[in-house]
Amino acid sequence: MILEMPLDVLYEIFSFLTPRDLIRMSWTNKDFRRILTSRSTRNIWKAALESVEGLPPCPLHMNEIEYSTVLFHVACYGCGRARPPVNWYFRRRICKRCLPDQ
Ligand SMILES: [Zn+2]
Repeated sequence: MILEMPLDVLYEIFSFLTPRDLIRMSWTNKDFRRILTSRSTRNIWKAALESVEGLPPCPLHMNEIEYSTVLFHVACYGCGRARPPVNWYFRRRICKRCLPDQ
């Protein structure tokens, strides 16, 4: 039923979420994914990132969703192993075992 709400109400709700919450919300279903990856929510992601104290600004070569995912989704992109380092070339967290496959 939440998806039946007007978009401006959803945007208001999203504006209270952290970057990690936004990522998780975008993974809940295709509709949230479509909404939260649309250009119209870019300011919501930007505000969520700005609310994180001490966080450097989003690099110019990344968008806010990519930056949020790299920082706050702490599993390997390939295998799901926890807390591999960020590989800034691939803009993902990748463990040593999965790196050759990338
Ligand atoms: Zn891995």
